[in-house]
Amino acid sequence: MNIASVIVDVPAKQTDRAYDYKIPARLAGLIQPGMRVVVPFGPRKIQGFVIGLKTDSDFEQLKSIVEPMDLNPVLNQELLTLGDWMTEKTLCYKISAYQAMLPAALKAKYEKKLVLTDKADRSMFSEEAGILFQNTDAITWDDAVKDGALSQLQREAANGNIEIVYQVKERVKKKKIKQVFLAAERNDLADYIEKLPGNATKQKEVLEYFLIKDGPIEQKELFALLGITTSTIKGLIQRGLLGQKDVEIYRNPFGNREFERTEPLPLTEEQRQAITPILHSIENHRYETFLLYGVTGSGKTEVYLQSIQRVLQEGKEAIVLVPEISLTPQMVRRFKGRFGDQVAVLHSGLSAGEKYDEWRKIQRKEVKVVVGARSAVFAPFENLGIIIIDEEHETSYKQEENPRYHARDVAIKRAQTHKCQVVLGSATPSLESFARAQKGVYQLLALAKRMNNQALPSVEIIDMREELREGNRSMFSRLLLDKIRDRLEKNEQIVLFLNKRGHSSFVMCRDCGYVITCPHCDISLTYHRFSQQMKCHYCGYESFVPNICPECKSEHIRYFGTGTQKVEEEVAKVLPEAKVIRMDVDTTSRKGAHEKLLDQFQEGRADILLGTQMIAKGLDFPNITLVGVLSADTMLHLPDFRSSEKTFQLLTQVSGRAGRHELEGEVIVQTYTPEHYSIELAGEQNYDKFYEREMMVRKIHRYPPFYYISLVTVSHEELMKAVSVTEKITKFIQSRLSAESIVLGPVASPIPRINNRYRYQCLIKYKREPELGQVLKKILDNYQQEIATGGLAISMDLNPYILM
Ligand code: ADP
Ligand code: ZN
Ligand code: ZN
Repeated sequence: MNIASVIVDVPAKQTDRAYDYKIPARLAGLIQPGMRVVVPFGPRKIQGFVIGLKTDSDFEQLKSIVEPMDLNPVLNQELLTLGDWMTEKTLCYKISAYQAMLPAALKAKYEKKLVLTDKADRSMFSEEAGILFQNTDAITWDDAVKDGALSQLQREAANGNIEIVYQVKERVKKKKIKQVFLAAERNDLADYIEKLPGNATKQKEVLEYFLIKDGPIEQKELFALLGITTSTIKGLIQRGLLGQKDVEIYRNPFGNREFERTEPLPLTEEQRQAITPILHSIENHRYETFLLYGVTGSGKTEVYLQSIQRVLQEGKEAIVLVPEISLTPQMVRRFKGRFGDQVAVLHSGLSAGEKYDEWRKIQRKEVKVVVGARSAVFAPFENLGIIIIDEEHETSYKQEENPRYHARDVAIKRAQTHKCQVVLGSATPSLESFARAQKGVYQLLALAKRMNNQALPSVEIIDMREELREGNRSMFSRLLLDKIRDRLEKNEQIVLFLNKRGHSSFVMCRDCGYVITCPHCDISLTYHRFSQQMKCHYCGYESFVPNICPECKSEHIRYFGTGTQKVEEEVAKVLPEAKVIRMDVDTTSRKGAHEKLLDQFQEGRADILLGTQMIAKGLDFPNITLVGVLSADTMLHLPDFRSSEKTFQLLTQVSGRAGRHELEGEVIVQTYTPEHYSIELAGEQNYDKFYEREMMVRKIHRYPPFYYISLVTVSHEELMKAVSVTEKITKFIQSRLSAESIVLGPVASPIPRINNRYRYQCLIKYKREPELGQVLKKILDNYQQEIATGGLAISMDLNPYILM
C-alpha cells in the first residue's frame, strides 16, 4: 500500500477527482485515509485529503507526497463516504464536502504546534521524541517534520502524550471589561446620598442603585441602565464612594462554569408514551426516524435527555442539533446539567480555537454528547447512538452556500450507517416532515399537552387597519397598550416581538415616494441608526442619508420602517415608567451579551424584553404573562412559497413564550392582514388545520412536499448574457426531463441584480427524476470555461430554502 488517492484542495470541475501519489519510504505506514497531506500539484504544493491507499495505479510517473499535515486522520471512513454522498446530493466538489466537516481552525492559516499533554510522561518517550521535547513542552510542526520523527510523534500522540494545537497567527488579545463597584460602606450610603447637593440627581441615582446592588457591575451596563456617562461617576470615584477595575472575561461563554446537576424527571404519561418507541428502537439497534410533534412547553427536551441517557448506557454517543439562534446558555445548561463534562458545545460564539478544542474532545472520545448548530451533524463520533434535531422546521439547518446540504438529510444518512435513531422535534413541524410522518416514513410521536396541563396562552388578533381608521397612528394598538400597562402595574413581564425579516428600515421621500436603493443591486438600502448610514445588505455598499430628495429636492426625506430602536423610543415616549431591554443584532453582537441581557430580564431588572427573531425561541421565564407581536405579516409577502409556513411557525413560537408556568399567558398579535389563514390559525394555535390548509395550497401549486424543487440561478454582468444562458439551460433541462416535470424559466430572480450582476433563474418541479443530478452536472461541465474565468456564475440548489 504505497500509493495514496488524494483529493486536492482545488475546488474546480477538472480537479474534482482523486489523484494518485506515491508514499515515500520515510512516510511508509504513517499515511492513513482521512489524513490531510501536502502534495505537489503542477508547480505548486497544495493540501489534499487522503481518501484511500492502494498498491497499484493506472498512472506510471507518480509524484510523491511531501508530508502529512496530521498525525491522526481528521476524517474517519464513515465521514469520507459521507462526503461522496454529499457530492452526489448537493452537486458540490468533494473537497468542499470534506472541508465542511472540519472545524475552521483546520482550514485557515494557523500556526501548528505539537505540545505535551498534561498527562505526558517524558520518561516513556521514544528517543527521537525525547530529544525534540528535551527543553520544551512545545515544538513547531515545521521542526517536527524537519527532524523526520513523525512516526515516533504519531505514536506519542496515540498514547496521549502529545497533541496538536492550532494558534491563530495574530497575537491573541485578552478581553477585558471595566467594572464599577461600591467602595464605601453600604451602611453609610444613605448619609452620602443625603449630603449630595440637590441638583446632583444622577449621582443620587447611581448611589441608590448601589444600595440594592451586590457586587460589581459592568460600567457600560450601568451607564445604559441609568442613562449616565463617565462624568456622573467620576466625582463619586474621586471621593472614594465607588471604585473601578478592569476584569478579564473568558472567551468561552459556557466552558468555565459549573452547571448545577439535574436528575431525570419522572415522565408524564404522555412523555412515557412518546419515549417508549424511541427506547425500543435504541435497544433494537435499528435505524428509525421519529417526528416528535409537541406543543411548546410539552416537555420535548426531557424526552431528548432521557433518550440520550439510554444511548449513553449503551456506550454510544449522541448529537443534538439546535438552531444557532436558540443555542442559548439556558439550552446548554439543560444538557450540561444532565450530562456534565460529557458534553461538548459547538457554538458560533466560540473562537476558531475554542471550536477546535471542542471538536478535539469529540475526536479524542473525551465527550459523548455534542450540542451544536448545523455543522455539529458532522461530529466525528464513531459509535453514534442517536441524532436529535430540535426545532426541526428551522430553515437554518440548510446551508446556503456550497455544499448546500440540509442537516436533516445528513443526520438521516449517518443514522442509517450507524443503525441508530433520528428524533426530529418541533411544535410546528415542517410540512415536508409532517407529510412524511403521515405516510409512515417517519414515526409520529405526539405531545399534545403542556406540562401540568397548562392551557396554551390565549391569542388575540388585532386588525391594525381598523386602528388606523379610528385615528390611532401609533405602532401599538390600544388593546396592547392597555395590557402592557396592566402588566406593569402587576409587576409581570412582557415580551414585545418585532418581525424584522423582510422588513428593514428604508429611506423614503414623503413627498414623491422616492426610495433610496443600492446603485449596484436592485434593493433598497437599509438605514442604520447608529452610524447614520445606509447600507446595502447584499453588496455592502454604504452611503450617507441625503438631506434633500435626489428626485424632487424635497427636504422631507427620512427613514421608514420599525426597527427595534424605533420601538424602544416609542415605548419610552408612551410608557416612560417601563424599563426595556432590547435584544437585536446591535445589542447582542458582543460575546456573552445575549446571555447577560437575558439574565437581567430574568432577574426582573426590566419589564419589557423587546427583540427580533432571536427572542422567539427557548425563553422560559415564569414571569412573562404577555407577548405582543407588533407586525405579524411582514414576512407574509416575501416571494417564497414557504412564507405562510414561516409566518405560522414564527407566530406559534413567539406565542409559546407566554404563560409557561403558574401565571396565565396572553398574546396580542397585530397585523394588517388578519384574514390570512396563517395568522388566523396561528391565533387558534391550530397546527393540524394549518397543515391541511397549506397542503392544499402546495398541492395546487405543485410545491413540496408534493413535488421536489431545484433552482438554477445564473448571473452575469451583461443582462443579455444572463438571459440567453438561462434560456439555453432551461431548454436543455426541459429536453432531458420527463413530461411530468415542470421547468419554469427563464425568469428574473426576485432580486434581479446583486453587485452589478444580473440574475436569472430556472425553477424545476418534479416528482421523480433520477437523472436530474447528471443533467445539472452536464450543464456545469458545458459552461466550465466561462465559469472558471469568473464571467459567468451558475448556482444550483437541489431543494432550495431561499428562492431569491
Ligand atoms: P418543550 O421543549 O417541549 O418546549 P420543555 O422541555 O422546555 O418543553 O418543558 C417545559 C417545562 O416542563 C420545563 O421547565 C421542564 O423542565 C418541565 N418538564 C418537562 N418534563 C417534565 C416532567 N416529566 N415533570 C416535571 N416537569 C417537566
Ligand atoms: Zn422626493
Ligand atoms: Zn448593493
